[in-house]
Amino acid sequence: MPDLEVLIELFRQSGRKITPQRRAILELLAQGSVHPTAEEIYQQVTAMMPDVSRATVYNTLHELAALGGVNEAFEFGEGFMRYDTNTQAHHHLFCIRCHTLVDINHDFAEVALPSEEAVGYQILRHRVTFYGLCPDCQS
Ligand SMILES: [Zn+2]
Ligand SMILES: [Zn+2]
Repeated sequence: MPDLEVLIELFRQSGRKITPQRRAILELLAQGSVHPTAEEIYQQVTAMMPDVSRATVYNTLHELAALGGVNEAFEFGEGFMRYDTNTQAHHHLFCIRCHTLVDINHDFAEVALPSEEAVGYQILRHRVTFYGLCPDCQS
């Protein structure tokens, strides 16, 4: 879970104002699901502040990702991006049926790419996703 004050400080340090709308978005990120979509955050914010625009929510999330407060998570074939509030290096389990996404912290040292496959790239990080069926979806 990200710390609310840390997220607010990121915005302040970059010279941005903390509007009540932005603060509400950051609060939701600090309290809510680990992998929210922008649309989920939008729905939750407008439940409290009906006048917040979709653009405000999407832009705030985008800015926060650029500042490193959240990871702009990848697309899991759901048709939308998720944000990942866990900015530590980690990997995922993904249920292909109910789209549950779970963090795993196993160190996949064995994923190291042989240099002939890296085609000259300097590798900075890797992310592993296991696709499968969660316990609920198996029954
Ligand atoms: Zn499932
Ligand atoms: Zn994650």
